[in-house]
Amino acid sequence: MTSTPAAHDCLFCRIVAGEVPATVVAETADAVAFRDLDPRAPTHVLVVPRDHHADVADLAAADPDLLAALVLLGRAVAEQECGGHFRLVFNTGAEAGQSVFHVHGHVVGGTRLGWSPA
Ligand code: 5GP
Repeated sequence: MTSTPAAHDCLFCRIVAGEVPATVVAETADAVAFRDLDPRAPTHVLVVPRDHHADVADLAAADPDLLAALVLLGRAVAEQECGGHFRLVFNTGAEAGQSVFHVHGHVVGGTRLGWSPA
């Protein structure tokens, strides 16, 4: 299980620490929401915990309350930006498309979403 307060070689730990710039749209004591660099929808925001966990399954095992907090932050972003309708995607593992191994939920919305994961 991967859970540390900060991993210095981790891009999203560095964004949370303010060392790498990002457009932050909301934050709490535990989590940060910032715009994806390569948006795939009118709203495409990443919700990440401040603490480092590799993926959503690790986070669920280590700190389910923090996972719930991420979901609620995603909802708050969607309420601000797209009427509260949103998809929350956690790519988990490289084969599933995860490229940054600090858990993040993709909050996507603002348009009618199709359903084609492949
Ligand atoms: P994954 O592929 O791991 O599910 O999602 C990683 C996401 O992080 C991608 O959608 C990618 O566009 C985004 N991303 C990668 N590097 C950066 C960055 O430096 N800043 C921001 N804001 N997003 C990034």
